[in-house]
Amino acid sequence: MKSTLKRTWAEIDLDAIEHNYRTLKERVGKDTKFLGVVKADAYGHGAVMVAKTLEEIGADYLAVSSIDEAMELRLNHIEMPILILGHTPKEQVSRLIEYNITQAVSCEAKALEYSEEAQKLGRILKVHIKVDTGMSRLGYLCEGEHFSTGIDGIVHACELPGLCAEGIFTHFSMSDEADERCVKYTEKQFRLFMDVVLGAEEKLGKRFDIRHCANTGAVAKYPETYLDMVRPGLLLYGYGEFAEELNLKPVMTLKSTISTIKVYSEGTPVSYGGIYVTDKKTRMGVIPYGYADGFFRCLSNKCSVMTDEGKAMQRGKICMDMSMIDLTDKMSVDVGSEVEIFGKRNSINELASLAGTIPYEITCAVSKRVPRLYIRGGEVIEKELLLRM
Ligand SMILES: *Cc1c(COP(=O)(O)O)cnc(C)c1O
Repeated sequence: MKSTLKRTWAEIDLDAIEHNYRTLKERVGKDTKFLGVVKADAYGHGAVMVAKTLEEIGADYLAVSSIDEAMELRLNHIEMPILILGHTPKEQVSRLIEYNITQAVSCEAKALEYSEEAQKLGRILKVHIKVDTGMSRLGYLCEGEHFSTGIDGIVHACELPGLCAEGIFTHFSMSDEADERCVKYTEKQFRLFMDVVLGAEEKLGKRFDIRHCANTGAVAKYPETYLDMVRPGLLLYGYGEFAEELNLKPVMTLKSTISTIKVYSEGTPVSYGGIYVTDKKTRMGVIPYGYADGFFRCLSNKCSVMTDEGKAMQRGKICMDMSMIDLTDKMSVDVGSEVEIFGKRNSINELASLAGTIPYEITCAVSKRVPRLYIRGGEVIEKELLLRM
């Protein structure tokens, strides 16, 4: 672990997680439960430490994509409820039950399989019913002509032996977009969701304990959708325009170190393909951060990193393991100086828009060879390197 420090590393500010959680909790109100989405290794931040923090500060639920992600949390002593949003093969039902993991049920076939497996074990599987209100991905199709068959399917699933339907949920596909079309679509999705929930509850003669639908966009913009529980991911990590508006703090700061500096004369091509040629005598630094660490190659020659003397332009093609930055007018930045790729002083939102993508993709791409340092109260409390050693 020591050897990899002072190369390139990600500082994960757990106090920022707490700040974001408390700010969002304040926003949604104390009667609304809070599910923290920690799929994809908590969007690259490290699911175990993020989940431990959320458990400690009182969040109600976690969500992951797969049973492996859920098991990682259970085996690391996370005891709070966990919902698997994605597909789990029926062969894994006994593990779901044994480890008290909640499973999303997205269609009749899945409901039947899970019910059958649970019955074989003589146990009960806790599930949340997923409704497709317009995302067109997973969930019971309930739109238009499918409305009443959708509700019947949901009611049937809830009544199957071996299943306990604790919750019902849907997912918005456009809640983070501002234009009229997306606002209308989100409102339509929400209306349909409520109609389906109320229709199913009427037939069942009982209310679902946890109705939920609000992702990041909805938490930021649609208070009427909070219902029993909100389900943000990106906001919790403090990225995107809504995070800025709500004064949330970015959780990850990705840092690297200047490993070498050389001075090139005018007219020197830099890196593969020579797409950048120095236009003057240039003092060029090398940072050990390349596309294998998660630096998108499409950002080559377009982005900048933050130094103690301000932004330094990245020059030439980004390589697998390193990239070059122009330090010509930054004489106090030297070999061994730290630079910030993104984080508190260099917004990831800007980097994402330069790359033509969203902040999610950038934090998820920070690769396993980048150590994560977890910071609480200004102290590094834990280090993780995800290599097989
Ligand atoms: C990923 C995901 C979320 C969180 O989305 P954000 O945009 O990060 O808030 C919520 N619900 C479901 C079903 C998801 O797949």
